[in-house]
Formats: sequence, C-alpha cells, structure tokens
Amino acid sequence: MRIAMISEHASPLAVPGGEDAGGQNTHVAQLSTALARDGHEVRVYTRRDSPDLPAAVPLPGGGYVVHVPAGPAEPLPKDALLPHMGDFGRWLGERWGGAEPLPDVVHAHFWMSGLAAVTAARRTGVPVVQTYHALGTVKRRHQGTMDTSPPRRIGYERTLGRAVDRVVAQCADEVRELVRMGVPRNRIVVVPSGVDDEVFAPTGPVAPREPGRPRILTVGRLVERKGFQDVIAALRLIPDAECVVVGGPPGARLDDDPHARRLRAFAVALGVADRVRLVGAVPPDQMPHWYRSADVLVAAPWYEPFGLTPLEAMACGVPVVATAVGGLTDTVVHGLTGDLVPPRDPRALGAAIHALLEDRVRRFAYASAAVDRARQSYTWRRAAAQLGTVYSAVVGVRRTSGAVA
Ligand code: UDP
Repeated sequence: MRIAMISEHASPLAVPGGEDAGGQNTHVAQLSTALARDGHEVRVYTRRDSPDLPAAVPLPGGGYVVHVPAGPAEPLPKDALLPHMGDFGRWLGERWGGAEPLPDVVHAHFWMSGLAAVTAARRTGVPVVQTYHALGTVKRRHQGTMDTSPPRRIGYERTLGRAVDRVVAQCADEVRELVRMGVPRNRIVVVPSGVDDEVFAPTGPVAPREPGRPRILTVGRLVERKGFQDVIAALRLIPDAECVVVGGPPGARLDDDPHARRLRAFAVALGVADRVRLVGAVPPDQMPHWYRSADVLVAAPWYEPFGLTPLEAMACGVPVVATAVGGLTDTVVHGLTGDLVPPRDPRALGAAIHALLEDRVRRFAYASAAVDRARQSYTWRRAAAQLGTVYSAVVGVRRTSGAVA
C-alpha cells in the first residue's frame, strides 16, 4: 500500500527529549520503518520548520520524510500551529494525484494532523485513519488553566472522531475516553505503540554507575505532568539510592532550562540534591545503555496517553514502578512486570520503590517477565502488521462503496 503519514509537529527526524519532541516522534519514525519493511511505500509529511531543509529526506529504515510548507519556516510551539493546518491540508490535496501519486490511505498523528488529513481527503477521497496520541479532554482535566492548547481543540477532536474512517487508540483507557467524547465504538481499534526489541534488549553497553548505590532511573521531557518532582520527593523514603533523570535539553543547556532549575531547587529544598542527577537529553541510540544501568525504572506521570519509556525499560529487562494512569495500566502488569501506584502520591511511590529495591528476587522475576511481555505483545513489527490490516479494511470499504477510483 501507499501510506501517507501526517505528523505536523513531530518529525521522525527530530531528536526526542525537548519540550515538543518525545514519544510521537519515536512512534512515527519506528512505525514508518516497520511498515516500509513490510513492503509498504511510506511518506511522512511534517511541517517545514527551517528554510534549509530539503524537500524530501529518506528515512534510515525506508520511506521518506516530506517537508510541507505551512506557516513560517521556523520552529513554532505546537500550540501555535492550528492557523497553518488549512495550508498544510490544501498543499497535500493539490499534490496528491498531481506531483505525487494518490496514497491509498492517510494516517494522521495528533489532532491537528487530522484536520490537515481531512482537508486533503475531502479533495482526493483518500480514507483517513486517526491516532490522537493525546486528548484535549484529558489535558484540560489535569492542567486546567495551565493548558495552552487552542480553546477549540476538544471540539475539533470530537468532530474528527466522527469524520475519519477509523480511530486508532493506543490503550484501553483511551478507548473509554473516546467513547465518552462520543466517538462511535465501532470506529475505534486499539493498536498500542511498540518497542524495537533489537535495540532495547537486556544485553549490550551499560552507562557507568557508582558501585553499591541503587539506581532509580526516570526518563522524559522535563514538563511538570511527567511527575519528576514526585520521584524526587519519594527519594526521602529510599535511603542511599540515586535518582538519575534523563531528558530535557542537552546537558550543557540544563542550567538555562526553567524546568531543570525548578527540579534542582525542589531537590535542594527536600535535602536530597546530592542524590539527584539531571543528565539532559540522551541520543536515542544511547537510551538502552541508561536503562540497563538501572535497578528500577520509575515513571510517575499524572497522566500518560501511552508512555514509551516503561516499555523500553521492560524490553531491556528492567522492572518498572509506575503510576496507574493511561497506557501504563496496559503495559505494566502489577505484581508481574512491575508495580503500579496512584498518581501524585510520593509516599506510595517511595514505599513501592523502596520495597522493590530491597527485594532482589522480585526484581529478577519482574525483569524476566517484563522482557517476555515487551517482546511478545509490543514490537513495532506487531503494530505495523495490525495497522496493515486496519488500512486494508478502510481501503476495502472505500473501494466497494465506490468513493475512490
Ligand atoms: N527519549 C530519548 N532521549 C531522551 C529522553 C527521551 O530518546 O533524552 C525518548 C525515549 O526513549 C522515548 C521517547 O523519547 O522513546 C519518550 O516517549 P514517552 O512516550 O515516554 O513520552 P512523551 O515524550 O511522548 O510524552
């Protein structure tokens, strides 16, 4: 099949770790590569955010990234992109069937990509599959007035859910949320994100660590909702352990980062600063080294649409302590591959981490079950195969209904 992926702000070529670059970038890159390996022709359309970018760039594992002119050719925060989505969609609609062959299916990532996809599809008749990655309703519930999303986001997301041919949810919690939003259940399929189990594996290089000191690793963009402050607060209940935080801007720029400064000040106030180490952004190919160096991976978000980092740690044979939110309640099996605790509860988090660090046998059992679970249920190969079936189904329906020539 000829597959058009749209990922308006999250280029698969961007390095994850910064404020707007994380799981979606990884997701689109890995999925596109896995689909290309299955023999599909994949193009990923992302917004041109620099005048120096070539029109199209081959993806290392197969497929192409196409830079779409929409808005100024400079970096913009994702919450400022909505006014440019009309241009994005019109550009695609004119190009498909002209300068480029018509795709069989378009898969939009994030709600604004969905708007561009629907605009292009209206002109070309190409079926649209939508993955939200994050939902405005959930963000509003947790962030309240701090939510900087465009005010009409929730309405657009609801409308999109009814306009597209299929909605791909990433976990059971998202299905519940979509149904509450009014998206018809029979239009939703669940295809979870995955992990590259050849890269994220128990054996391989290990990041250096201090002998004899237990290491808690936590990974992600340093934004507040990732709950790093709860991990730092939990440290008070875990004597001797160090907490390594990977993510944010590159290490040399951490001093200028307001989130990093906030976390450091918090650690100082709690008297645990000597046990908290902020590493900054780590290149994706070095992430496995950091996971392997840890005794436990802690993921303590307030909410999490999917959450790749616990899965990556599991594939590396590292037990996980996570908050029981979003996708983490699917990937982490409480008492089998890790422990789940309530969100925003540093006491419960600290108690769970401490108990696990004290119990070598349980850590070992969790680690081996975690590797099995990641390999069996969460590879990108599996996700690509499941999506291939979804795409075939929507293309088939359109063909039989005569909507596409
Ligand atoms: N990541 C990375 N380097 C970093 C921090 C994160 O490569 O310094 C990657 C991490 O391995 C994962 C992704 O960024 O693949 C984060 O995805 P997740 O779903 O955990 O969080 P999101 O950023 O989407 O909220």
